[in-house]
Amino acid sequence: MGVRAAIEHLAALVAFDTVSNQSNLSIIDHIEKFLAPMGYACQRLPNSNGSKASLVATLPAANGETHLDGFIFSGHTDVVPVEGQPWDTDPFTLTLKGELVFGRGTCDMKGFLACLLAQAPLWAANRPGRPITLAFTYDEEIGCLSAPELGQYAWAAGFRPQLFVVGEPTMMEVVDAHKGIRSYETTVIGLEAHSSNTHLGVNAVAIASELVVGLNELAEKYRTIGDSSGRFSPPFSTIHVGVMHGGTARNIIPRECKFLWEIRPLPQHNPDEILEEFNIYVERALKKMHAVDATTSITTTPVTVVYDLKPDASMAALPRALRCAGSNATHAVSYGTEGGIFQRAGFPVIICGPGSIEQAHKPNEFVAVAQLAQCLDFLHTLTSS
Ligand SMILES: [Zn+2]
Repeated sequence: MGVRAAIEHLAALVAFDTVSNQSNLSIIDHIEKFLAPMGYACQRLPNSNGSKASLVATLPAANGETHLDGFIFSGHTDVVPVEGQPWDTDPFTLTLKGELVFGRGTCDMKGFLACLLAQAPLWAANRPGRPITLAFTYDEEIGCLSAPELGQYAWAAGFRPQLFVVGEPTMMEVVDAHKGIRSYETTVIGLEAHSSNTHLGVNAVAIASELVVGLNELAEKYRTIGDSSGRFSPPFSTIHVGVMHGGTARNIIPRECKFLWEIRPLPQHNPDEILEEFNIYVERALKKMHAVDATTSITTTPVTVVYDLKPDASMAALPRALRCAGSNATHAVSYGTEGGIFQRAGFPVIICGPGSIEQAHKPNEFVAVAQLAQCLDFLHTLTSS
C-alpha cells in the first residue's frame, strides 16, 4: 500500500519539468498544499528574484517539540536536462515497466521525495516521539546553490536534529563520506602580435597549456597519496581540466585563453592547499610573461564549491540509521551532494536514498519499486521510537 502511494506521488513529481533552468515554484506549491493541511508548518526560502524557493516543512512531535532531537529529511527538487538524450519513453511521464519506474528524476532524486510524501500522512496521523522536518531545495544540479541558505536558516532557527538525512541515491546504503568539488575558471591574458614576431607577443594558449600540464603533474602527485581505507573509488583526490578556449586565428599570437578545471578532494585533502600548489606554476608563468609585458595576467576565479562530507563517528544516531537500513557498515562515494554543506552548517549528516547513482543524469533513468519500498521502511523504522 505504501509503495503504491509513493509511485503515485512520484508520477506527480516527475510530471513537473523542474530542470534547473526552470522555476520550481509549481512543485513547491504542490508539496506545500499536500503537507500544510496535515499539520506541517511550512516555511519558504525564496531566491533573490522570487523565481524559485526552498521549502522547510515541520511536523511537531507528539509532545509538541518542533526543533530538538528529531529528524530532517532533505532532497533537491531540480533535475538535469534531457536534451540530446535518447529516451525510450517521455522523460516527464512516469512509466512503469515490470519492477522499474522510468522518468527524469526517478532516482535523482524525486523517488526519495515521493517516499517522504507517501510517509507524511502516516507521520501526521500517528505523531512520532520526535519532530520530523522535510526540506526541499533547488539548484542542486547546478552547484548546490540553495543548500547554504537552507542550512544556515535551519541552524539559526534552532533545529538540532539527531540526524539529517540527504536522500540522494545510495541503494539505501548509509553513506557518511564523500568527496567535495571545487571548480575554477583560469583566464590567461597575453599580448597579441603577428605570428611571425613571436618575441613581441605573449602567447596565452602556450601559457595556459603550461598551466594545464602543471595541473596534470599535481593530479599525478595526488594519485600517489590516495586514501588507504579502500572506501573511495577512485581512492585519491582528482584534478581535471574539462574545457579550454583560446586564440582567434592561426597567424595571430593569442591574447586570451581560458580553461575550466576542477578538484575533487578526498575529505582529508584541503583543496585550498592544492590551489596554492597550482599558484606556484602561475607565479612561474607570470615571471616570463611580465618580462615581455607588464599588463599580461593570469586570474583564477572559483566557480563551484561543494563541500566534502567528512565521516563523523561521534554521530549518536549513526548505529540506529545503520540498523534501520539493514546494514552494518557505512560507505563512501565519489559524487558530491548537499550533505557536506549541511554538515558545515552544523548538522549530523548521512546520505541515504533509493536508487543507484549509475542511473542518475542518464537517458531512461529509473528507480526500482523495491528501492522505494525499502526507503519507506527505512523512514518508518528510523522515526519509530
Ligand atoms: Zn541529486
